[in-house]
Amino acid sequence: MPDRLAGRVAVVTGGASGIGRAITVRLLGEGARVVVGDLAPERADDLVAEHGERLVTQRADVSDEDDVAGLVSTAVEGFGRLDILCNNAGFGGALGPITETSVADFDLTFDVLVRSVFLGIKHATPVLAADGGGAVINTASIAARRAGWAPHLYTAAKAAVLSLTETAALELGALGVRCNAVSPGLIATPLYAGHPDSDADRIEKARQASHERQPLGRVGEPEDIAAAVAFLASDDAEWITGQQLIVDGGITAGPTWDDFPAPYKMVRPIRHHRPPGR
Ligand code: NAD
Repeated sequence: MPDRLAGRVAVVTGGASGIGRAITVRLLGEGARVVVGDLAPERADDLVAEHGERLVTQRADVSDEDDVAGLVSTAVEGFGRLDILCNNAGFGGALGPITETSVADFDLTFDVLVRSVFLGIKHATPVLAADGGGAVINTASIAARRAGWAPHLYTAAKAAVLSLTETAALELGALGVRCNAVSPGLIATPLYAGHPDSDADRIEKARQASHERQPLGRVGEPEDIAAAVAFLASDDAEWITGQQLIVDGGITAGPTWDDFPAPYKMVRPIRHHRPPGR
């Protein structure tokens, strides 16, 4: 593993499970010190035991301004600085038809998925800038790219995350702070398996149910996203900002050949398409 993040300090929200946990492990592996903020931080107790003083976990609700500000404070007070913010925590949000969705569910969905990103950028930016610049990486989703892959409000919220990524990048560039998004495809996590408490068996079933439709023949693993996040956090990406890095095994490139309707698959001899005489 490269050693690109030695001396850096990161805050990772939702870092106790799934993609966030893999991001935490990857950043630690590349030499960073990490503050994990999560509603259920105890799920990362094993990582704390393994990585000792380089990892701190803290209960935080990313939709709460004081909690988010508290994560930045913990990084500064515990590790002396902040270089990387991963706004990653999330959930599936409100399910069902728009006509049956309450305003309270709308607000909760956008609070957890969008307000959280706004709060993270708001509170981290002054510290990132004061420490010589840094990197913000927001976890969006391929759902933002096309309607119909996820519930209404989740889809709209992730589109808002992409938009906020771009507008923040324009504002923060002058401060030396880069802001990018990573958009995962189908990733084998508890969330993807249908519930935050999904066990390994349930995740494996979700993995097996989806791999046939993947151009690369498998669903994504949290480590696939973590590798992209570590790249965006590192100096290897020092001239990249305001971008979305889609990490999806190719599923947004288009339908696979097997998904094409029959007429498209009619094979015509190639000679019919050649100019006369050739
Ligand atoms: P996960 O359920 O495994 O992990 C999410 C983590 O976020 C959990 O530890 C949970 O406790 C935490 N969390 C939830 N709400 C929180 C809150 N209000 N405050 C603090 N922490 C909170 O899910 P995951 O699949 O790892 O998802 C991580 C991110 O990736 C989410 O933003 C999700 O939308 C996004 N994503 C996931 C997939 C996928 O297929 N798994 C695809 C695209 C995008």
